[in-house]
Amino acid sequence: LKGGLRRTHSQIINGLDEFFTTKSDKVTRDQTLEHLFEILIQADIGVKTSDLLVEKVKSRLTKDDYSDPNKFKTILKEEIFNILSSTKANPKGEIEKPMLSLSENKVPHIVLMVGVNGVGKTTTTGKLAYKAHLRGQKVVIGAADTFRAAAIEQLSVWADRSKAHMIRLKEGADPASVAFETVKKASETNADVCLIDTAGRLQNRQDLMQELAKIGRVVAKENPDAPHEVLLVLDATTGQNALQQAKVFRDVVNITGLVLTKLDGTAKGGIAIAIAAELGLPIRYVGVGESVEDLEIFEAHEFVSALFT
Ligand code: GDP
Repeated sequence: LKGGLRRTHSQIINGLDEFFTTKSDKVTRDQTLEHLFEILIQADIGVKTSDLLVEKVKSRLTKDDYSDPNKFKTILKEEIFNILSSTKANPKGEIEKPMLSLSENKVPHIVLMVGVNGVGKTTTTGKLAYKAHLRGQKVVIGAADTFRAAAIEQLSVWADRSKAHMIRLKEGADPASVAFETVKKASETNADVCLIDTAGRLQNRQDLMQELAKIGRVVAKENPDAPHEVLLVLDATTGQNALQQAKVFRDVVNITGLVLTKLDGTAKGGIAIAIAAELGLPIRYVGVGESVEDLEIFEAHEFVSALFT
């Protein structure tokens, strides 16, 4: 994670270090806080959350602390941690928890993957399948993004890597049919995890809404508790746009968690903080590269450690 957050770390911490080493005695407390605000904005934490953080830091700093970069950073780190750890946990269980593989009533853990095209949804589905495979779990993948032949091909490569069975129908088929077949196959074959990769054409919100609702209904028919998780994939390099996308999807489906991808290529990793503060949705995974191992479970503690050290 540390490598993945390198650029965001430089943006915030090097920015602060530079400020403190060059600042003159004449710099006022307000100017120091203003500078902090600018640094936070540049890391894409956004105006609202940056304001909140500055206020929190301000309320905890004593007069002397303003010339102590370490104290300053410690308080900032604690406040960022408080935001990141305040999101509510997924109520329906987690994909990382071992499945009930010995139980007779075993049901596959059904996960819907949602997000706009290009954010890394297919890649993340593949990475999650691989993680499950490494844990010895049996995976069934559904290629419900039936509008992009390339996405289906890409997913099948990922599926092979995880020895996962992939359900695909012909291009342009009803995504809900794919979801139905996938869930059916997962039940029949006693799979542990069932990952359904959906389409992400945000241009037509109405269609997207109907499509996701239909997939949800079809899946729930097989298992009333399902989907057990709906993971929204967001591209960290798009910064504040990711936050807007999350707001749109939140209105359409019941998102249980987020995956923030491409943290490795950006100084905008602060968006994770904005998302946690403004949406209260838990970030479950972070993508830190293109290869199969480059998906990490998100932990607030590790995130701030990587950010600050
Ligand atoms: P989809 O359209 O949402 O399914 O997106 P894809 O899974 O096809 O990914 C789009 C591009 O982003 C591909 O080139 C991926 O290799 C790349 N990508 C996905 N996740 C990550 C990540 O965590 N880090 C980096 N650097 N690239 C990623």
